Amino acid sequence: MSKESATLPTVKVSPRGGTRLKDGHVWVYRSDIVSTDSALPGSLVRVSDHRGKPLGTALFSSSSQIAIRMISHATVADFPALLRQRIGDAIAYRTSLVRDTEAYRVIFTEADFLPGLIVDRYGDILSLQILTQAMDAEPVRQAMLAELTDRLHPASIIERVDPRVRELETLPPRASGLLQGEKSATTFTMNSVQFRYDALEGQKTGAFLDQRENYAVSAEYAKGEALDVFCYQGGFALHLAPQCSHVTGVDSSRPALEVADQNATLNHQLLRGKEIEWIEANAFDLLKDYSSSDHHYDTVVLDPPAFARSKRDLDAALRGYKELNLRALKMLRPGGILVTCSCSYHVSQSKFLEMLASAALDAHRTLRLIEVRGQAKDHPVLLNVPESAYLKCVIADVS
Ligand code: SAH
Repeated sequence: MSKESATLPTVKVSPRGGTRLKDGHVWVYRSDIVSTDSALPGSLVRVSDHRGKPLGTALFSSSSQIAIRMISHATVADFPALLRQRIGDAIAYRTSLVRDTEAYRVIFTEADFLPGLIVDRYGDILSLQILTQAMDAEPVRQAMLAELTDRLHPASIIERVDPRVRELETLPPRASGLLQGEKSATTFTMNSVQFRYDALEGQKTGAFLDQRENYAVSAEYAKGEALDVFCYQGGFALHLAPQCSHVTGVDSSRPALEVADQNATLNHQLLRGKEIEWIEANAFDLLKDYSSSDHHYDTVVLDPPAFARSKRDLDAALRGYKELNLRALKMLRPGGILVTCSCSYHVSQSKFLEMLASAALDAHRTLRLIEVRGQAKDHPVLLNVPESAYLKCVIADVS
């Protein structure tokens, strides 16, 4: 054991916290902490069970409900060195699994054994998000930037700050902006579709990277007249357009639709002159209106924002999903394709399918599942950490 590790403070967890770790999870909540020794905000700590048996090394937060996030079952003395090695591993993992895109998630927090760090790549721009006290420490930031630069040679690195997260972690406020380099906007290609990315614009641009593979697979089944509801900057609409006779995208955000339209222009060759129609509307109102009048489609995509931000919202969220899906089913022609998504972690895949089955009964339609999918492979799911699996994307044939 090195000198540094011998001096690490010890955090003792309750029997319940210990069981959670033995079951393979990496978080222990504050309510399951017995003592924290002299652990400082964001420090590296040794973890022991209530009897004092060592369980490994973790990152400590003095304020988050998630008090510790495990980083190793072994003793770790030098976190910046481990971080550099794990950034290398995360990049190698993408090299083996990610295809057909210049934009992907390079590091996905716990799922890459780097809790509290998210890094996305948009061509030669990297965008990072720091979510914990430990990742915000200056030596850790320096190691992070050095390793990302050495390995990926980005033109620039941008930090996206979520002020609410910094507040929860009692970190001083910080503005989003360039950490390195000057380039903040670019165009990237994903599945042969081009997207604008501007990191410093009011509204974040880019595509939803977690839907990358679902875009490509949905395009294989899409046909006829298509409606992309909650289209944002056109992720699904642009992918579907080459296979469809007409595509309409709906979103309540005008700035998002403006970028969607610019993206359509970028892809004029791929679209072979086809126009995508963008409608600014509240999706609930529009679907209510369209499903009770004579609007019919061959393909409908539903990709709403997360309705359940906590367990408490689950019932209301399921009612919201059901209403949307029911209306979409009513509008689909026989043999039509429904692509329906949920990015709420609290809505499990089985609950989502149950909701869909109930919507099908109410709409007097029969659904055959073609694909039951999750998030793209660059957003790995850590099997014993259920929170790492959040996206559902169901593609069904509707008769
Ligand atoms: N399908 C998109 C991502 C959707 S994100 C893609 O693949 O890129 C969710 C979108 O829902 C956001 O663009 C947001 O502006 C929009 N939105 C939220 N509430 C809405 C509502 N009530 N009606 C219409 N759009 C809404």
